[in-house]
Amino acid sequence: MKKVKFLVVALSVTSLLGFFSCTNNSKPAAEVKKIPAFDISTMDKSIKPCEDFDSYVNGNWKKNNPIPGTENSWGSFNILDKETREVKIKGIVNDLLAQNSLAKGSEAQQITDYYRSYMDTSIIEKRGISPITPLLDKILAIKDISELIALSGELDQLGFSGPFTVGVGPDDRNSTMNAVFMGQGGLSLGDRNYYENKDSSMVKIRAEFVKHVDFMFSLAEWKVTDPGKTILDFETSLALIQLKNFEMRDPVKMYNKIASSELHLLAPEINWEGYYKNYGLKTDTVIVHDKNYVKNLNQLLKSTPTEVLKCYYRWHLLSAYANVLPYAFYSESFHFYGTIMYGVKKQRPRAERAIITVNNRLGMPLGKLFAAKYFPESSKKKVSDMIENVRAAYRDRIEKLSWMSAPTKEKAKEKLAAFSWKIGYPDTWKDYSTIDIQADKLVENSMQISLWEHRDMLARVGKPVDKKEWGMSPQTINAYNNPTNNEIVFPAAILQPPFFNPDADDAINYGGIIAVIGHEITHGFDDQGAKYDGTGNLRNWWTPADSTNFAALGKKMENYFAAIEVTKGFKIDGKLTLGENIADLGGLTLGYYALEKSMEGKKRPEPIDGFTPEQRFFLGWAQVWRENMTNESLISQVQTDPHTPARWRINAPLLLMKEFNEAFGCKGATADSMRIVIW
Ligand SMILES: [Zn+2]
Repeated sequence: MKKVKFLVVALSVTSLLGFFSCTNNSKPAAEVKKIPAFDISTMDKSIKPCEDFDSYVNGNWKKNNPIPGTENSWGSFNILDKETREVKIKGIVNDLLAQNSLAKGSEAQQITDYYRSYMDTSIIEKRGISPITPLLDKILAIKDISELIALSGELDQLGFSGPFTVGVGPDDRNSTMNAVFMGQGGLSLGDRNYYENKDSSMVKIRAEFVKHVDFMFSLAEWKVTDPGKTILDFETSLALIQLKNFEMRDPVKMYNKIASSELHLLAPEINWEGYYKNYGLKTDTVIVHDKNYVKNLNQLLKSTPTEVLKCYYRWHLLSAYANVLPYAFYSESFHFYGTIMYGVKKQRPRAERAIITVNNRLGMPLGKLFAAKYFPESSKKKVSDMIENVRAAYRDRIEKLSWMSAPTKEKAKEKLAAFSWKIGYPDTWKDYSTIDIQADKLVENSMQISLWEHRDMLARVGKPVDKKEWGMSPQTINAYNNPTNNEIVFPAAILQPPFFNPDADDAINYGGIIAVIGHEITHGFDDQGAKYDGTGNLRNWWTPADSTNFAALGKKMENYFAAIEVTKGFKIDGKLTLGENIADLGGLTLGYYALEKSMEGKKRPEPIDGFTPEQRFFLGWAQVWRENMTNESLISQVQTDPHTPARWRINAPLLLMKEFNEAFGCKGATADSMRIVIW
């Protein structure tokens, strides 16, 4: 629960809560073995590549790699994440556990004692919910809404999220300075869609949610009548006044800077003074995502009985800490948030969950040790060279675009020339030594980390942005584009096969890491990123005619993806996924032309396993995105996530590309009218 506002556009679905992991059967390899660039036994050649490229390339792989019971999906990202976690991270933790008398406040002490506190089930069971009782008592003692809002300022310091969230991050219109933001929050089911969609699967989830809340209340021995229905009713009212997820993709609409004093006019029922005082925050201005939401929230809180709101806050507190409370709470929470919502059948063993939790909560202290051990400096040079090649390919593409006029092309090239990159891990590490971690205080440890994060966030208010900061730990299998910094970032852990394989032929790497780099660069020029200039400020640099052309191309993409049904009753949300789809098409195009450029004037590489370099480029892309997924997760992804599900990240953009159709001789298979060229 990170409160610092990082406007980060990630490559892939960010990992789910620490409910799921996999059992560890893998052992560290005795020696480094070469990983094949592409294994043709994964293919199903009975399928026609032009009809279903995912099944053609990954058909046998999918058959032979069912989703483990402890997972909601299984693909390249999951496998690499599992290996990184269970071999490298576990190895680091095990080495530290073998050491004696570690200095208090050192990364080693914090990691090992947090791990021990997670593993010591006898203490966890003995303490019950007593570690959160003082906070619960404070909620119970509340007399009116004013007191409740003031108390929520204290709860929010612990990473708790009520109906509104307050965070600090770069000011989109003055990106070198930090600003305070206020947005919506506080939904147990995460997204408005889960409250209003009438599909039977969603009706079932809501019914199960009611049962889940009731059961959690009974485990805590709280005597409240129908808490589940009370919470669902309140959260449904809350959800219906919130922005839809695709609406939050418009950074111009989301930017409403007001004087802090104006909050009192928008929402007089909310005790802002009390909230800010307990939250520890002083600010003259705040950037509100949606003023109407603040107004409507005022009405909703005014018309809701205090007892209902107290019930709601108790529920959120209990649910937020369920993972670190006695087993019965974790197990029930897993049943709902793992099995019901994502189709995960089996719980992960406790030791696996301990590693995941330590990795999630102490990601940077652990990442410091990870980077020192596992990231060769030579990789930095290799990847930075690749980034510069893609930058050059992008420049060529911009010059050739037929839909964009010369003045906008100049501005686009300026922005392109200005972006920076980060590779591997941060140059400097923050001081985490004040986080007080104790081997027998699991809940308090979680709170201490949240408090450290909170203080770290408050220290930014009114200060310049630290442009060197990272928004992901080095051991994360992902990448991101940060538009307010005009930068792309590649953590150490993604620079491994199948994304980047030093032993592979170029074509496979161009379809893997190079297309991924192209994807991240293109985010600076997708429907959202294109609204920011080269200095990371939200400022229009487009001529009106070019802006209209770009929007029309986006509309074509939106309609194309919105027609795809991924499972019965659920289609891709063309608006929500637009930025990612533009980035995939852009990344593929850039990767492809960077490969062509790299072969210019050289002897053409011989086909490998009968595939030309162009064909292998697309095999490389499909290998990266191969994935099996539970139906529940698929439904969740299309309703809440800006990324198109993996199968259609392969099949959908390729059919738009004449380069793909040519490589596999699909001429006539797709109409020219389907082709879309944006970048
Ligand atoms: Zn992306």
